[in-house]
Amino acid sequence: MTVTEPLVLPDELTLALDAAGDSIAGPRPDNQDAGLASPRLVAVADGVGGAHGGATAAALVVERLRRSAALARPEAPDLVGGVTAANADLAAARRRDPSLAGMATTLTAAALTTEGRLVVAHVGDSRGYLLRRGRLTRLTADHTLVQALVDSGAITSEEARTHPQRNLLLAALHGSAGDVSGLAVSALPAEPGDRLLLCSDGLWGVVPDETLHELLAGGTSPAETARTLLRTALARSTQDNVTAVVGDVGVSVGGPAPPTSVVGAARS
Ligand code: MN
Repeated sequence: MTVTEPLVLPDELTLALDAAGDSIAGPRPDNQDAGLASPRLVAVADGVGGAHGGATAAALVVERLRRSAALARPEAPDLVGGVTAANADLAAARRRDPSLAGMATTLTAAALTTEGRLVVAHVGDSRGYLLRRGRLTRLTADHTLVQALVDSGAITSEEARTHPQRNLLLAALHGSAGDVSGLAVSALPAEPGDRLLLCSDGLWGVVPDETLHELLAGGTSPAETARTLLRTALARSTQDNVTAVVGDVGVSVGGPAPPTSVVGAARS
């Protein structure tokens, strides 16, 4: 008799992300996007709020997640706890500097446990995509007025692309008490070979899903793929900051931890 056992990785073999990101201001004078690429946690934040507010909000949230990723128990990264702490950082920054009162940021983040559970937390209009066995799926739904109008049947997705209020967010992190309740959290089992893309609207707003699919499936490294995605957004005349973080799920065999990098808006 043959018994098929479920895949159980030996202790020293765990799933981890090979992740890299890139971020550019595009045609804008400053970059208010930020991104994080690390073996356990990837994130993209797109700040809003004028002057230095947007860049501060995005940078604070990504910096808090970077620090929480470094501290986290790898078998169970506490993504919601990290986002809650990041939102408290926004509240503290607003108290210190009243000129930051209007700042906010989107956040799309994904954490990978060593057992291969992928947890996605999302608020706003940055996006997460999953390329698995050749198929591209969206992991997030935009928290925007136009997405709500599409969902209700009032407008089509094609009309949403050019709607005058397409940038209006229905939820974001502002450092307010109720923000974390607007977070959409989902989880799915990861598989070796999965490729994640997290990106800001400066990418998906001008590059259609079919093109994202083609570029993600092109067989290039996460770093090269992120650079190609940004170049494609520029070639399509994006009017916004553009950030892409690409993470490949693979089996980690121990050894030195892969690097963690932060791209885009830096904490000032
Ligand atoms: Mn944007």
